Amino acid sequence: MADAARRLAEAGVASPRVDAELLLAHVLDVPRARLLTLADVPGDPAARFADLLDQRAGRVPLQHLTGRAPFRHLELAVGPGVFVPRPETELLVEWALARLADGAAPVVVDLGAGSGAIALSLAHEHPGARVTAVERDDGAIEWTRHNAAVRTAAGDTPVEVLAGDMTDRQLLTALDGTVDLVVSNPPYVPDGARVPREVADHDPPMALWGGPDGLDVVRGLLHTAARLLRPGGHLGIEHADQQGAALPALVRGHGGFTDVADHSDLAGRPRFTTARRAAE
Ligand code: GLN
Repeated sequence: MADAARRLAEAGVASPRVDAELLLAHVLDVPRARLLTLADVPGDPAARFADLLDQRAGRVPLQHLTGRAPFRHLELAVGPGVFVPRPETELLVEWALARLADGAAPVVVDLGAGSGAIALSLAHEHPGARVTAVERDDGAIEWTRHNAAVRTAAGDTPVEVLAGDMTDRQLLTALDGTVDLVVSNPPYVPDGARVPREVADHDPPMALWGGPDGLDVVRGLLHTAARLLRPGGHLGIEHADQQGAALPALVRGHGGFTDVADHSDLAGRPRFTTARRAAE
């Protein structure tokens, strides 16, 4: 295991020991903690482990190798074609759940759903919520649909998955003025920003890049959110580290929102902006 971890460290993997352990646990199909009591790895899994280590050293994301990404209480299926959900996005979901707390059947829209991490977590943790997950990418939406079907089969309230673009002025017009919460982890990385190889080579470009200042897609998203939300309805948008002032300024500048605030993640980095739809 020490050799495996060293190999990944030399390849520039950010958390080499944990990744090596998770890959071994994956091939053995045991929880990571069980590795402590493991004497020897039998031949066949050892060969699979070696193969996965090679791929991880080549900076294939850990989650593509295990096929799974943990997110809050769920485990999402992920792989080529879909953005791997990040732990920091769990905080946006926590904020959203607190906004839904006193509504029995709130109407929720997740714009740019990807794996479905946000939408499916909200449906799972607020069972009465009527959630629509919007995804524009033909490849990614296969994963949204798959994960939504898995959660429905597990007994969660079904999430509606809709193919569409969050900047489209015709998107979900039937819900205009009725939505209680719009939530999004949109593409927000400024063009040309440096991202890890796992991200650059394996997350779908459409899920990442947001134009020169990273806010191109968000500008369109604000129009959609303002149209969909009822007066007093809530908006939560994840953003990049360096957008903690720019995004709130953009939301204020739109004119249709009040109570604009920014929130930091557990590492103290500005992470998401929230607001409420102004009364007309
Ligand atoms: N947080 C992601 C990253 O670090 C970017 C996510 C996004 O653009 N929505 O790569």
